[in-house]
Amino acid sequence: MTSISKKQCSKCYQHFDTNFFTSKTGRDLKTCINCREQAATVYRTHHLNDKDQLEQLYWNDVKKKLYDKIVEIGSNEYLENKENGVLFSCILIMENELLKEEPCNISKQVAKLVEQADGYYYIYKEHYLSKKSDGIYTYWYYCSQCQQLAKKPRKNEDLNKQRDREYIKRFDCNGLITISINMNTFLVTIHLKHDILHKRPERYAVSDTIKEKIKQYINFTPKDIFRQLEQENPDLTQKQVHAWWANFIKQEYIRDKNNQLKSAKLLLEEYNYEIILVNIEGEINYLGFITPFFELLSTNKEIVVDATCK
Ligand SMILES: [Zn+2]
Ligand SMILES: [Zn+2]
Repeated sequence: MTSISKKQCSKCYQHFDTNFFTSKTGRDLKTCINCREQAATVYRTHHLNDKDQLEQLYWNDVKKKLYDKIVEIGSNEYLENKENGVLFSCILIMENELLKEEPCNISKQVAKLVEQADGYYYIYKEHYLSKKSDGIYTYWYYCSQCQQLAKKPRKNEDLNKQRDREYIKRFDCNGLITISINMNTFLVTIHLKHDILHKRPERYAVSDTIKEKIKQYINFTPKDIFRQLEQENPDLTQKQVHAWWANFIKQEYIRDKNNQLKSAKLLLEEYNYEIILVNIEGEINYLGFITPFFELLSTNKEIVVDATCK
């Protein structure tokens, strides 16, 4: 899929598809949807008396309330829902240790609270300090799998990093937490918006040590490798092992990504195998080669073949 045209936002200067600049009523706008939503939240924080509208909750009640909502919306056993997302707003009453924290740490902990309740990961995007110096700090966290965070690989970037990123499945979820902390009232306004409840991220990344082990056991099946590793790495999943194994085995044997026969031919040449029949260009493709086994057999007078078919 290629986008037809992109447009630059006059506020954040990022380029997005033109549909990011269309208002709900279909008008063309200069700022992107992200910037407009952020502006709207700042406006709400300052101009509406949220306290009259939103429920004020303590830490554990926020967690429980959001979790209950996710359970309600989730349409399968994994609490996913491809059609419906979640909209959740409340006011958190700060208590105890939280009162001693700096706003940025408070925002981190609130994002963690949301993560614990809904099972997603959120990544800090930016913050805004009210110019009126009224002690209101606003922080934005994006869902780690949202399309907006997808970066194009930079040139000369570490290949492993690129591959790591290929395993992050992205969604058009617009997952965003807006956290507004009022350091005078010690109330935190939380707005969570997630357009769909997509598949949740793997909780733990695969460490380099584990990757090395997978490489070491490359000739075993992913299932056996997983059995070898699972005891010492309780967070590892079979799916992760399979993904990395497939990745390494490709590096080991694939020489041409687009043409299987060409790839096989290159590999055979590399291994100094004798190719006896080859056509990788024409209509009918074929590739024949001799294995070292052939030399052993060539002096035999008699060959017995026992074929077992299932
Ligand atoms: Zn923008
Ligand atoms: Zn998301």
